[in-house]
Amino acid sequence: MNAQPGAPLLDARARPLHDLRISVTDRCNFRCVYCMPKEIFGRDFQFRERSELLSFEEIERLARIAVALGVRKLRLTGGEPLLRRGIVDLVARLSALKTLDGNPVDLAMTTNGSALPVMAGQLKAAGLQRVTISLDSLDDARFKAINDVNFPVSRVLQAIEAAEAAGLGPVKINTVLKRGVNDDEILALAEHFRGTGQVLRFIEFMDVGTTNGWNLDAVVPSGEVVSRINERWALEPVTKTEPGETANRWRYTDGSGEIGVISSVTNAFCGNCSRARVSAEGQLYTCLFAGSGYDLRALLRGGADDQQLADALSGHWRKRDDNYSELRAALTPGKRTRIEMSYIGG
Ligand code: SAM
Ligand code: SF4
Ligand code: SF4
Repeated sequence: MNAQPGAPLLDARARPLHDLRISVTDRCNFRCVYCMPKEIFGRDFQFRERSELLSFEEIERLARIAVALGVRKLRLTGGEPLLRRGIVDLVARLSALKTLDGNPVDLAMTTNGSALPVMAGQLKAAGLQRVTISLDSLDDARFKAINDVNFPVSRVLQAIEAAEAAGLGPVKINTVLKRGVNDDEILALAEHFRGTGQVLRFIEFMDVGTTNGWNLDAVVPSGEVVSRINERWALEPVTKTEPGETANRWRYTDGSGEIGVISSVTNAFCGNCSRARVSAEGQLYTCLFAGSGYDLRALLRGGADDQQLADALSGHWRKRDDNYSELRAALTPGKRTRIEMSYIGG
């Protein structure tokens, strides 16, 4: 089942499989307007039943097989991953996995932070290494309008502190920028996190799914973000340490740390994309913008052995030629079915 030494698993564009993002739930306690708008994800929305979700045994088994094929990084996401009951147990199971070169797998989580003040210590003890926490505004009224559940900024800041105190840092902060919504806060956000050791990452608003009303005018190009910050505090580029890294990194020349920009729209990074995703119900996606997945749960529950699962995973990866972001400009909006961010997990 192991990838042969010297013969890494490569897709049709010669990209290795190094990262696996695992969504553990499609539910969330926030209703961020760009991700789970209330008009769609309201009281009547049918989330998956618990029995439809992969069990921890199933997730662990898939992760073990993926790691044996060359995956080095696992990231738990959602929906809101901390809402999944028993998540600490899943972290403990996954943190025990070893990569092909015998090192512990790199295990991280993306979260809205709401449960971190209570859970950060347990997650660290179970083997979680790092967290990325989402925060789109420092202005309370605005942040509440974005998350649409009245969640205050102060509680996300507490979550960041709790994560740092528990040893889950340096914390990365994800900020999705939307023109006319929070692009006037670029400098305020940069100033807040400068000198803290925390790494603020500005994400271009993406056309994920079909419910978030995306249009190109709402995207704030990363180039603009970097030049606005650079006018105030000089920045210089940092060389990427990992080829599959999504963020372009910039450091303050005065030593106050670094920022990242994720330019999925204006500067697609498909050429280095080494990431596969598994949804909460076990669909495998080889691209964030995939229209359909491959049903790993059917294999898991149909009695497939590890070899068959490894063959399915590697077979799909070998065929993969996704480069949606590179093609975006040429595609006609609205002509394609896309899965939702809250389902696939970002
Ligand atoms: N609930 C967790 C959170 O918010 O961190 C994890 C899941 S969330 C889908 C993962 C990341 O995707 C978040 O940082 C969120 O801001 C980002 N995101 C969601 N919709 C997006 C969109 N349309 N464009 C860009 N980023 C988006
Ligand atoms: Fe929930 Fe995260 Fe989506 Fe916001 S971005 S609605 S916190 S899944
Ligand atoms: Fe990877 Fe697809 Fe995003 Fe390109 S569009 S970077 S292939 S997930």
